[in-house]
Amino acid sequence: MSDPIHSLSLKKLRDGIHAGNFSVMEATDAYLERIANFNEELNAFITVTRDSAQAQAVEIDNRIRKGELDGAMAGLPYALKDLFCSKDVLTTCGSNMLRNFVSPYDAHVAERLKAAGGVLLGKNNMDEFAMGSSNETSAFGNVRNPWDTDCVPGGSSGGGAATVAARLAPVALGSDTGGSIRQPASFCNITGIKPTYGRISRYGMIAFASSLDQCGPMAPSAEDCAITLNVIAGLDARDSTSVDRPVPDYTATLNDSIDGLKIGLPKEFFAEGLNPQVGAVIERAIKEFEARGAIIKEVTLPNSHLAVPVYYVVAPAECSSNLSRFDGVRFGHRCENPQDLKDLYERSRWEGFGAEVKRRIMIGTYALSAGYYDAYYLKAQKIRRLIQQDFAEAFKDVDVIMGPSAPTTAFKLGAKKDDPIAMYLEDLYTIPVSLAGLPGMTFPIGFAADGLPVGMQLVGNYFEEARMLNIAHQYQLSTDWHTQVPAKFA
Ligand code: GLN
Repeated sequence: MSDPIHSLSLKKLRDGIHAGNFSVMEATDAYLERIANFNEELNAFITVTRDSAQAQAVEIDNRIRKGELDGAMAGLPYALKDLFCSKDVLTTCGSNMLRNFVSPYDAHVAERLKAAGGVLLGKNNMDEFAMGSSNETSAFGNVRNPWDTDCVPGGSSGGGAATVAARLAPVALGSDTGGSIRQPASFCNITGIKPTYGRISRYGMIAFASSLDQCGPMAPSAEDCAITLNVIAGLDARDSTSVDRPVPDYTATLNDSIDGLKIGLPKEFFAEGLNPQVGAVIERAIKEFEARGAIIKEVTLPNSHLAVPVYYVVAPAECSSNLSRFDGVRFGHRCENPQDLKDLYERSRWEGFGAEVKRRIMIGTYALSAGYYDAYYLKAQKIRRLIQQDFAEAFKDVDVIMGPSAPTTAFKLGAKKDDPIAMYLEDLYTIPVSLAGLPGMTFPIGFAADGLPVGMQLVGNYFEEARMLNIAHQYQLSTDWHTQVPAKFA
């Protein structure tokens, strides 16, 4: 018997479609059926675009038959985090503020995937405006982790991570501002990459903190991430921070040798704060790299302990500015019967935003206000530069950096909901990388004593995505952690 469609990698899906083993419609229906069966339990999708997916599948089947479409993504289903504007599709950002927002245009990445012949299955649940590490701040209810449905999937791209982990889609696009691809990927046993800041256009991706936001693929394997990155990376004139630099074929170097690879382990990432069970899995995987000829070196990132506090000045400051457009006039929910303009602004924003978003808008507005700007925002920017320099120093001695993606495995729903500081510390190891604008990825390396998945974080120098994907792919060629799926979803 042949393997079920949902167990196939993107490459095998594509080969199957092009060999005529199954049609795009069959592949699409296979995933739609899984979503119909499992989404109620996982709550990973806010919107399922069943009708438009089937219509797209018919069209793409025709075009492939006529030989008009031959790209690497032709006919491949995918899901989008609900902060990517999708033309004529509800785009909520996980917020009541945008509960009824149907986007009139496609985000850059949505446009690229559509043009490449991909089939949009639906829009993934997420923390409200991408603020959170557990998906519990969503106005559409929490997402459940397929590995233990009493646990969170991580966040903010928790919907995408659960979707891929349960094989409800072969790939999902997430976004990462301080860890939102890497931490949920770690909690859900999938591979995810946040490329270098500027590698992928942010056009049409609803902004949280513009100097940090970056989108990226989440999929079972590094190879699947490479295939997707090929389609979405590259210059776009509509995003002024999008970088004009050639995009390599990320699949071309997957099989390069990683012999003699110099791996740096930041000593600060293995100190207090790291759950010992997670640490044990990380150390075992490092030994596996060493056994394959890698050279392990300790490096130091002396300012990394300042990253979380710096992030919680910079990100709220930028979000307070970005979210000012949601005022009930220009964008977003408008309250009923406003008494006057002030009442309209106040009540629309009060009703539209949830507690975490309000907290950040208040912190950010405070940090940017006259008299405090120098003390907080400017100071934070200076420390950000020091953090960047720490990495530059480290990369003089090593090719890549490895360490944990998160200090813990997936925690129970509700466990950290009322403790923002504990929640913020989830991103202890991912935020420094975001502040430096460096590419970071997570790939599965095993399970902790509690039975839950652990992901390795891999950090490269600027624009080293191809090398990172190559390293993870080589690991995945000889391990099968990334192919593991919870029994119920196999
Ligand atoms: N968890 C972090 C936060 O709440 C990061 C979120 C993200 O990367 N979008 O801000």
